[in-house]
Amino acid sequence: MADDRYVYDFDEPADGGRDLLGGKGIGLAEMTQLGVPVPAGFTITTDACRAYMASGGELPEGLEAEVDEHLARLEETTGKRFGDPDDPLLVSVRSGAAVTMPGMMDTILNVGLNDEAADGVITRTGNEHFARDSYRRLIQMYGEIVEGIDAHRFEDALDEDDLAATIEAYKRIYEEETGSPFPQDAKEQLGHAVRAVFDSWNTPRAQAYRRYNKIPHDLGTAVNVVQMVFGNKGDESGTGVAFTRDPSTGEQGLYGEFLADAQGEDVVAGIRTPQPLAKMKERLPEAFDDLIETMRRLEEHYKDMQDIEFTVEDGRLYLLQTRSAKRTAAAALKAAVEMVDESLITREEAVARIDPGQLDQLLHPRLDPDASYDVVARGLNASPGAASGGIVFDADTAEDRGRNGEPVILVRWETTPDDIHGMIAAQGILTAHGGMTSHAAVVARGMGKPCVAGCEALSVDAKAKTASLNGLKLGEGDVITLDGGTGEVIIGEIRLIPPEINEDFETVLAWADDFRRLKVRANADTPEDAAKAREFGAQGIGLCRTEHMFMAEDRLPVVREMIMAANEDERRASLDKLLPHQQSDFEGIFEAMAGLPVTIRLLDPPLHEFLPSLEEAKDDRMRSRIRALQEANPMLGTRGCRLGLQYPEIYEMQVRAIIRAAIAVRDRTGEAPLVEIMHPLVGFEEELRRLRELTIHTASAEGEVEYLVGTMIELPRACVRADEIAEEADFFSFGTNDLTQTALGFSRDDAEGKFLTFYLQEGVLERNPFETLDQSGVGDLMRIAVERGRRVKPELKLGICGEHGGEAESVAFCHGLGLDYVSCSPYRVPLARLAAAQAVLEEAGVEAVSVGG
Ligand code: PEP
Ligand code: MG
Repeated sequence: MADDRYVYDFDEPADGGRDLLGGKGIGLAEMTQLGVPVPAGFTITTDACRAYMASGGELPEGLEAEVDEHLARLEETTGKRFGDPDDPLLVSVRSGAAVTMPGMMDTILNVGLNDEAADGVITRTGNEHFARDSYRRLIQMYGEIVEGIDAHRFEDALDEDDLAATIEAYKRIYEEETGSPFPQDAKEQLGHAVRAVFDSWNTPRAQAYRRYNKIPHDLGTAVNVVQMVFGNKGDESGTGVAFTRDPSTGEQGLYGEFLADAQGEDVVAGIRTPQPLAKMKERLPEAFDDLIETMRRLEEHYKDMQDIEFTVEDGRLYLLQTRSAKRTAAAALKAAVEMVDESLITREEAVARIDPGQLDQLLHPRLDPDASYDVVARGLNASPGAASGGIVFDADTAEDRGRNGEPVILVRWETTPDDIHGMIAAQGILTAHGGMTSHAAVVARGMGKPCVAGCEALSVDAKAKTASLNGLKLGEGDVITLDGGTGEVIIGEIRLIPPEINEDFETVLAWADDFRRLKVRANADTPEDAAKAREFGAQGIGLCRTEHMFMAEDRLPVVREMIMAANEDERRASLDKLLPHQQSDFEGIFEAMAGLPVTIRLLDPPLHEFLPSLEEAKDDRMRSRIRALQEANPMLGTRGCRLGLQYPEIYEMQVRAIIRAAIAVRDRTGEAPLVEIMHPLVGFEEELRRLRELTIHTASAEGEVEYLVGTMIELPRACVRADEIAEEADFFSFGTNDLTQTALGFSRDDAEGKFLTFYLQEGVLERNPFETLDQSGVGDLMRIAVERGRRVKPELKLGICGEHGGEAESVAFCHGLGLDYVSCSPYRVPLARLAAAQAVLEEAGVEAVSVGG
């Protein structure tokens, strides 16, 4: 426990910040301190929730007394009494974790109402509809959330025209379902509501959301008890959500939704489709002006785009929540660039706040603008990107089919937070109801999944697994295409094209380039990939896997001939045929990367990978060769430099092709390529000593060219004997795919989908070590290699070319290790540039904003 108390009023300072008060709690406290109109209330800390969970559902000692104390203070502030039959204080009980989990946890409104108090409100306000509407909402929310009563029971019994009868029906449902009457005691309601919000931390949907977003399960939620303000009091009242900038594009301007005469859950649950915020200006001009001014102040204070919830009661504005807005990558970049222009933030802050993992969204496919298609229906452009897939009508089916690799589009009446596992598995989401800010649309944006929401031409019969789209009947598996950027829905599959990088993207990445120390190269095997990598800002090639060139259709027969050769002479004859192919590939790559270093790795995989399977072998000779090459553990077998030592003519041909290509390009362009020749899977100094000799000997016969000779570091032995190996190397490049495999003893080909998946599900491991570098294990080996290698050769060039070179946390780790560069696939180069800059900024103490609420 951070302190010896569990409850803080909004106007009381608390040391624990967001972790203790949750995002909503800290927002309410800060807004109160800023003088923004916020209802009064208090926050029960995440400490209390953790204590509650740890004890298996006991409220921690002293909490109830503390709540009573703060409730008394709230009564004093508001001049109303909790449970008063004439003029009751009513509160909302709201969840709010330290990290944002939109819609995943529960909130109960109007706590404190009962039969008598509802009558009291009618007498005092003269507004019967309001009083009864508020009361029926309480019974419904309390019934659903505290008692787990099925929402449909209440929905089916709702009669908007006779709310008195609705209340009686709701109370009957409550009693039928629970065996007791709806509790009339305000404090009893509050106590149960608080527990229910704590419990909602562990609903299956909240757990699924945390797993997907890598949020720890033990954080717990805070609970905010907030004086009710009423948006459902009539024409002068309403409720809405707004963003200070457009969360899809980042553009300045009004962006939000408003519902007159309604309470907050109507908007966020997507039950009624709200109106654009501009409509509020006509209805409630003064509250509207206040809202605009408040939004401006909040942005100025937080120096970031905010996502707010507000209510207008009898013409008066109240803010209920503010948080850093979830946004698409495009919006994050535009907002950051414009905020720098507005002098709201510095370039450093702008770079620090972009989520590198999100950049990938901008590299999402779009509909081919040249494709012709008919738009069958339109909805809201809730989350950009395009996707095609077979329709599924429920989240479970989406998950089943999606897991089997089938592209699916989840089609629902409305997206609810319970759909989270289906949304994760789907390519895109289409809904008939719900606004841009319905919680699940927000979730889709966060995931970068295309989403079209509020498509009115759609009707869905989820039970029958059919839908009608503008009168057209559709069934499960029928293919549709969505464009989440325009809201268009199209029947059938449409060609998608790769996206282009825009100006904001270039601007932020250029700033990142100014800050970072690590260089970023790309793994590329063809001139086309090399050109793409350069477009994305790669500063060279860190890994060219030459075996990919062996696989090409016109070469494979010659490669097979070489492998089948009966003796060295025959093998050399085949290699001579391969040489011109390799040389022309290298020339293309050198030209695409002119002026930048290119690391070419000599042949690595076991030779049998180039041969057909035994069944496919065309004759006995081939069969016997396949058998001869078979190994029980080919990954630990005759591959890498072992091949090069055993069949030196293979590496000689490759070195010759590299050097000839370098000379040809130099002669043609006047610029000598920066060549680095790399030997794979070295574990012993003697291996590299011999291969270095082979390289130099072969190269010098071709002419005068400068080049470096180095090695991959992908075996634990190579790490611990790095001082010896460094004697023979100009550079090291960490092959962390193999290093992870060999250090952990996890097969990189089999672990995923087998025990590793189990480990991740069960929490034995938190991260997949093939995705995120195992810093304490593999990372420690790398640290040893860096220290020992540089001890004998301070100028040793160091890089990484395993998949981890394109993963943000691993890039930061490599920065910390003092590597010279990371190398990753071309599409991840922008991510790595940003992550490398953020590593520097983090050291300098520039904080990223945490998007919470
Ligand atoms: C590695 O092992 O990390 C590596 C880059 O080489 P490959 O993936 O080709 O084995
Ligand atoms: Mg390797």
